[in-house]
Amino acid sequence: MAKSVKNANVLLLTANANENNKLFAILNDKKIEFNAHPFRTNKFYALVPFHYFMEEKKHQLIVTYSVNEKEFFEGYDITLEQDSYLSEEIKVSNSKVSLSKKNKLRTSKEYQEAINVYNSVSPKNYWFEDFIYPLDSKITSPFGTKRVYNNATKSYHTGIDFKAPLNTKIKASNNGVVKISKNRFYAGNSIIIDHGHGIYTCYFHLNKMFVSVGDFVQKGDIIGLSGSTGRSTGPHLHFATFVNGVQINPTNLLETLNTLN
Ligand SMILES: [Zn+2]
Repeated sequence: MAKSVKNANVLLLTANANENNKLFAILNDKKIEFNAHPFRTNKFYALVPFHYFMEEKKHQLIVTYSVNEKEFFEGYDITLEQDSYLSEEIKVSNSKVSLSKKNKLRTSKEYQEAINVYNSVSPKNYWFEDFIYPLDSKITSPFGTKRVYNNATKSYHTGIDFKAPLNTKIKASNNGVVKISKNRFYAGNSIIIDHGHGIYTCYFHLNKMFVSVGDFVQKGDIIGLSGSTGRSTGPHLHFATFVNGVQINPTNLLETLNTLN
């Protein structure tokens, strides 16, 4: 197992086990379930997410399991290292943009709604093939760029921006169930897909949305067309991913998941 992980990346754990082994990973008091491996029998896997702002130090990871009703623990020290994300200075004028009372209420409602989605872990798995990117295009802004204000990192770029002229077809990264399909203040027309096992992909600033909440989508289905809705300076696709409630670099998540197959 890897002894170091970068921030906004996942640590993949796999184990030969069965249902009776009741495997769990615990990182900083957060319990993460192991799920049945999507491609192998008698194998389980867990995705342990390390969030962007996690402290650069050793974190204790504990794996618990049962054998013949007896519980066992194994501890691992995992060193968190900062990934080499870019950074940009935020000008004062940008930070002064304030929202109306109505929009403040709207954005906080939309934020909470999305958090509730990301925090729910579907025990069912919907995908049985590799994940794909939603379009084949150039990256115009990478994940993770720090937004620095007065020498403090205030926020970061939470997804990958892909070059996408208006009305470019956007594909579902894998099979899943649509959990959000609506216009939101910052993200504009937004689609969020639940792939099961706590894995979510998000597609923002769309011009058109072709799916509704509850729809089952298949990998490669055209779920919408790119646009510049919400807070956006021009047509592009913002693609983001979450694992067990934590925002993860999409490149790292897709690469990690695709090693399972
Ligand atoms: Zn973006």
